[in-house]
Amino acid sequence: MDTTPDTVKDAQNPPLSVSLLNLDDITEHESPNAFNCSAPDVVFQELPHHISLAFTIHGCPFACAGCHSEHTWDAESGNALTDDAFLAYLSQYQGLISAVVFLGGEWNRQALTNKLKLAKAQGLTTCLYTGGNHVARSLRAHLDFVKLGPWIETLGGLDSTITNQRFIELKDGELWQDRTHWFQQNASSSSQQNMLQNSSQNNLHTTQTLNTFTHQQGVSYASA
Ligand code: SF4
Repeated sequence: MDTTPDTVKDAQNPPLSVSLLNLDDITEHESPNAFNCSAPDVVFQELPHHISLAFTIHGCPFACAGCHSEHTWDAESGNALTDDAFLAYLSQYQGLISAVVFLGGEWNRQALTNKLKLAKAQGLTTCLYTGGNHVARSLRAHLDFVKLGPWIETLGGLDSTITNQRFIELKDGELWQDRTHWFQQNASSSSQQNMLQNSSQNNLHTTQTLNTFTHQQGVSYASA
C-alpha cells in the first residue's frame, strides 16, 4: 500500500496542463522593460545540448525553504536588465551561445516577455526556470523549455529520481515533452565517472557527490 502523503505525491506529480501563473498579486511593481539581475553566466548544464547565457533575475517571491539564492530575493538588488542591456549581452556573446536561460523573472511577465522576444528574434533557444508549477500562456508562446516546480529539499532537484521538478520542452506554446530524464541520465553518467576516478585514486569511500543542478536553489551555474 502506498503510504506517501498526498502533499508529497502532488509535489512529485505537478500537473502538465497549464494555466495562468498564480503570481498576479505580487506584480504591482512590474516594469514593462526591466528587472534586476546578477551578471549573466555562460552555462552548459541548465539546458542540455546548448551553450546558454543564464540570467538570474532578482526578486523571487517563492521563498522556498533551503533556497541557495536567498541573496537574490530582494528585487532592488543586482543591476537593471533593460532591453538595451540585454541586447548588449547578446551582441557580446553572439556566435558563442545558442540559448538564453532565465532563472526566474516570470513574476514580471511583460519584462520577461520582451526579453524572450528579443532572444527569439536573434534565433536563440529560450528557457525559463520557475519555482511555480504553471507558466502564463503569454510567456509560453516565446519559450522552448521550462523547468517547473519549487525546490523541496527532501525530493531534490532535476537529477533526483524522486524530484517534484519537471523539465519540459514546449511546442507552439504548449507543454510537449517531459525531458527531465536528460538530467537523470547525466547524473548517472557523471556518477560512474566519479566512481571510476575515485577507484583509481584508491579512495573507495569518498565517491564524489554529483555537482548537478537544481534551479537557483542549488544550480551549478558558474556564479552559484
Ligand atoms: S529555490 Fe528558486 S524558486 Fe525557490 S525561492 Fe529560491 S530562487 Fe525562488
